[in-house]
Amino acid sequence: MDYYSNQISRLIEEFSRLPGIGAKSAQRLAFHIINLPKDQVENFAKALVDARNNVKYCEQCCTLTDRELCPICSNKDRDQKTIMVVETPRDLAAYEKTGKYNGVYHVLHGAISPMLGIGPSDIRLKELIERLQGDVNEVIIATNSSLEGETTAMYISKLIKPVGIKVSRIASGVPVGGDLEYIDEVTLLRALEGRTEL
Ligand code: ZN
Repeated sequence: MDYYSNQISRLIEEFSRLPGIGAKSAQRLAFHIINLPKDQVENFAKALVDARNNVKYCEQCCTLTDRELCPICSNKDRDQKTIMVVETPRDLAAYEKTGKYNGVYHVLHGAISPMLGIGPSDIRLKELIERLQGDVNEVIIATNSSLEGETTAMYISKLIKPVGIKVSRIASGVPVGGDLEYIDEVTLLRALEGRTEL
């Protein structure tokens, strides 16, 4: 099946390993890269390697960053006492795009799923509980409205309530099963404003 020379085949193979990239797209991308100016390809390769080498978890909110504290956690103008709990850094980005949320975040990197064998200790819950020892006014749970997201929301609210911190859940303007990152900004804002205390 090696119609192309070895190095082209290798490049196609690397692309086809990426999520959502089928055989045809992999070929298209590989040939696109080969036709780019050399310096552009070098910049691209460097960006990949630098990101992989330097990106780590924020020490406070666990989002991905190349610093100890991400730009949101280190921003003194943000309300550090309001924590929005999301499943992924992409969800955080979706709320940031609205430009209307001024609190900080906590990124779980997943959701509890008994079906997939993902338990509370497999996501960044311990780090959230540790943060609650500090000065916190409200925890807004903005996990997805999937079964896993709801399970996680219930679990978190049960953990936090005894601590006496206000816990709220974003409104169900977010469609059931909907991934936060695909929802438009107006819907996200409505969901945030219409949040209910748990
Ligand atoms: Zn952070």
